[in-house]
Amino acid sequence: MTLPASDTTVLFPDGAVAADAVVLHVEPLPDGRIGVLLDRTPFHPIDLAWPDQGPDRGVLVAGEDEWPVLDVLIGATQGDGLAVGEAMPVRAGTEGWAFVVVHVVPSDADLPEGLGVRAAVDTDLRAALSAGHTACHLASLALDRALAGAWSKPAPDDGLGAPAFDRLAIERSVIRRYGSEDVYRVGKSLRKQGFDPGALDDTGRLVAAVDGTLAEWIGTGAPVRIERDGDGLSVRRTWVCSLPEGEVRIPCGGTHVISLAELGETTVRFATEPQKGGLGLTMTTRVVAEA
Ligand SMILES: [Zn+2]
Repeated sequence: MTLPASDTTVLFPDGAVAADAVVLHVEPLPDGRIGVLLDRTPFHPIDLAWPDQGPDRGVLVAGEDEWPVLDVLIGATQGDGLAVGEAMPVRAGTEGWAFVVVHVVPSDADLPEGLGVRAAVDTDLRAALSAGHTACHLASLALDRALAGAWSKPAPDDGLGAPAFDRLAIERSVIRRYGSEDVYRVGKSLRKQGFDPGALDDTGRLVAAVDGTLAEWIGTGAPVRIERDGDGLSVRRTWVCSLPEGEVRIPCGGTHVISLAELGETTVRFATEPQKGGLGLTMTTRVVAEA
């Protein structure tokens, strides 16, 4: 039962979908399934701190045997036991801990420590989530731009020069296949910062503005890359894309397309909902046509 002393090497930020790896540790999980730790992996796990993009699916292949990867979680260890998912006592990146990708396989999987395996991700699902995640970032920036005139005071900007509505108002974000859903709350604090909720009255105008910006940006076919200081799971990663207004950087742990040319027509719709002391806004983004 050797637990690793350092983070799992992660290959998904560069877009990898398959890799040869070695089983470092096998952990029986409370639900009877088995958690497998590899030295390196292309599998993207769900991040509990910001669970916008769900886990990859795929298989671990060893010789003639193939085991489905049913879930992909994050685990934490200091060498004497492994805490998985919500049982983790610390946030990813905490000093003195190793953070590992836990590949959840069925209880009858036979994957002894030291075994060489081929880790292969479901490429259709990965492509769909990567497109959805890139579209989500673009739509949030396009929304900031569409709402730039709604601010009466200087506000922190989003890296492209528009007040950062998305960052200041976001409650949660979910990446879907070829799309995403962002849920915002406009309450007292946003109004105090100078945001006029009246800007959300005409959602038709907002759709036209955001869709127009998305078409313009996607039409540039700009490259997308993930910057990181190392290849460990808990290393901070940044999404970088050069748009006509400038290079924009967003902290992000997910996966992405490598070029905006991979996205076709992308559109949004909005729903608003009165809430106690404020207004809820949901933006649904959809990549409707592949390029
Ligand atoms: Zn992201």
